[in-house]
Amino acid sequence: MLPLERQNRIKQLILENKSMKISDLSTLLNVSEMTIHRDLKPLIEDGTVIKTFGGITIPEIRVPDSKQDLNNDKGKCVLCGRIVNERMAYRLILSTSQIETACCAHCGLLRYQQLNDRVIHAICPDFLKQTTISAPVAWYVMDTEIHMGCCHPQILTFELKEHADKFVNGFGGYVFNFYEAKNEIIQKLQGHNSSCKRSQQ
Ligand SMILES: [Zn+2]
Ligand SMILES: [Zn+2]
Repeated sequence: MLPLERQNRIKQLILENKSMKISDLSTLLNVSEMTIHRDLKPLIEDGTVIKTFGGITIPEIRVPDSKQDLNNDKGKCVLCGRIVNERMAYRLILSTSQIETACCAHCGLLRYQQLNDRVIHAICPDFLKQTTISAPVAWYVMDTEIHMGCCHPQILTFELKEHADKFVNGFGGYVFNFYEAKNEIIQKLQGHNSSCKRSQQ
């Protein structure tokens, strides 16, 4: 196996397993641990993997650097071109391992719909805690009184349903899961929103 091939294989293994021991990689790929260390060096340097005690792991979801951000004009929403505010940014990780950044969940969900099965993962911030959360299991709040000045209709994202519910109790709006939110935004943009708004329980 060529070094480059092996490096790609290592990358793949780490992505699949989230973390690996150097010794396991050495056994799996049938090369010395020293060779594994050498192969890992550039991957560690470019931030693809992180060295841990006795092994390596993939980094926590992080802000993409310009190298990965090929599809984006730096700092602009992939869909509408608006300058991305990190507080709202919605990121799609594609099967090509490129990362697309949308300005907010509004554009993020629409872009997700466009790309469909080319998206392997999506992340967004929790509106309250500003932590990065997994978009498909996030809760989406629409039609609330708080306006963040991004796209309309606005969608805010929350990690916990409890927080989304509390937010809606205080500031109005509706809570949706990922699929509901995606359908809702598409329908709203198609103009079916005015006559059949759901009443709040
Ligand atoms: Zn946008
Ligand atoms: Zn937006």
